[in-house]
Amino acid sequence: MTKHYDYDLFVIGAGSGGVRAARMAAATGVRVAIAEEKYLGGTCVNVGCVPKKLLVYASHFAEDFEDAAGYGWQLAVNSFNWQTLISNKNKEIERLNGIYKTMLENAGVNIIYGRARIDSEHSVIVNGETITAEKILITVGATPSVPEFDGADHVISSDQVFFLPELPKRIVIVGGGYIAVEFASIMNGLGVDTHLIYRGDNLLRNFDQPTAKFVANEMQKKGVNIHYSSNISSIEKLDTGELKCNLDNNDILFADQVMYGTGRKSLTNDLGLDKVAVKTHKNATIVTNDRFQTSVPSIFALGDVIGTPELTPVATAQGMVFVNQQYGDDTKTISYDNIPTAIFCQPNIGTVGLSEEAAKHKDLSVDVYQSEFKHLKHTLSGNEERLLMRLLVNKANQKVIGMHMAGPDAGEIIQGFAIAVKAGLTKAQFDVTIGIHPTAAEEFVTLREIEYSF
Ligand code: NDP
Repeated sequence: MTKHYDYDLFVIGAGSGGVRAARMAAATGVRVAIAEEKYLGGTCVNVGCVPKKLLVYASHFAEDFEDAAGYGWQLAVNSFNWQTLISNKNKEIERLNGIYKTMLENAGVNIIYGRARIDSEHSVIVNGETITAEKILITVGATPSVPEFDGADHVISSDQVFFLPELPKRIVIVGGGYIAVEFASIMNGLGVDTHLIYRGDNLLRNFDQPTAKFVANEMQKKGVNIHYSSNISSIEKLDTGELKCNLDNNDILFADQVMYGTGRKSLTNDLGLDKVAVKTHKNATIVTNDRFQTSVPSIFALGDVIGTPELTPVATAQGMVFVNQQYGDDTKTISYDNIPTAIFCQPNIGTVGLSEEAAKHKDLSVDVYQSEFKHLKHTLSGNEERLLMRLLVNKANQKVIGMHMAGPDAGEIIQGFAIAVKAGLTKAQFDVTIGIHPTAAEEFVTLREIEYSF
């Protein structure tokens, strides 16, 4: 360890990747500091995965109450209190902030509250003080990106939706990716008149399209109004407080809130990158090699800020690999193949491996096995929701190269199966696995008929 620096490692940003890297590095005995200007835990804990999932649970109760009637329960549910939900959610997030603080402190990491800017290859300035470090790790993440248009100042993003003082009666949500689709389901479930506006023909463009289309249809059945091939051209705030959304297809929608889920941009501005010539891509993400090293050898970066899949488990995995490479036995690498992921819309999507479109793009010959059915639970509930389970098998070697599911707990189910896909197991190995009955997941080991091939 180099003694003439204040620290061996200075981490900028205490989100998922930064906290994991700082803790793990400190555990190896190196001297670590982490700077954070906002909140410990970053997007995931404060305005992302965790509070989003709590809102998903809240929104699903409406359906659960209705489903209960077919099972003999007579419930008189007639009110929902948004303020209670947000206040309880805030308490839980504060608890998690505290846990992050304790974890960092127990690991021996020095937490510095304030904005850090890089000043040289081995120094940062925080709160007016210059701090030196042998290595600097940038883990500042990303922030919602809203396009510019007339009236854009009237809209909210996922940063604000978690703190709205009131639940809107009508909401317009723009985008067709993770955030827009998840929040359309949340708001619809909470009883909000929900309109989802997407500029393309099918939601979730980068996902398996048969699964995405199936879910879009299910969402519409549940009451989400989806407007395809349209976008907002301007928004006017009326004297009544309502927002008048003028669409590019001449439609007009009135709403109490308009939320944009149109992607995120990395937080690389005003970080001092220009001082040391850290190279960035055109979209402002930081250029790194496979050791997370930037164009400046002593400065590293990982997480959303480098443009790899913007997912907490990816950032934490990168943090672990970075620490192993710098302070461990340097045996670890990271693979971005077969990253399982879930979209917590209703019904949930769980997915791992190649989509049908990606397999076609790779010119693979594929057998598709699939099953669409009603969940056992809904035989009595009367709920019209259906499930879809799809298995893509490479004809050449019979390996399962893609699994896609739309239905309850799809994320939980696909997380387990992802190990099989990652391990390169074949359809025959799925077939000899005995199912758990009665579950939805057993379909994945009992699919025998090829639905179609390409
Ligand atoms: P995504 O990249 O997933 O989706 C952005 C959407 O906005 C796309 O449908 C895109 O359309 C549309 N869009 C982009 N620019 C415009 C524009 N100018 N006007 C209209 N529409 C536009 O971003 P999100 O914001 O949904 O999420 C950001 C990231 O956060 C995700 O990529 C994901 O990695 C992560 N995340 C993960 C979650 C999870 O794991 N469950 C949950 C939430 C977020 P088009 O398709 O045409 O490009």
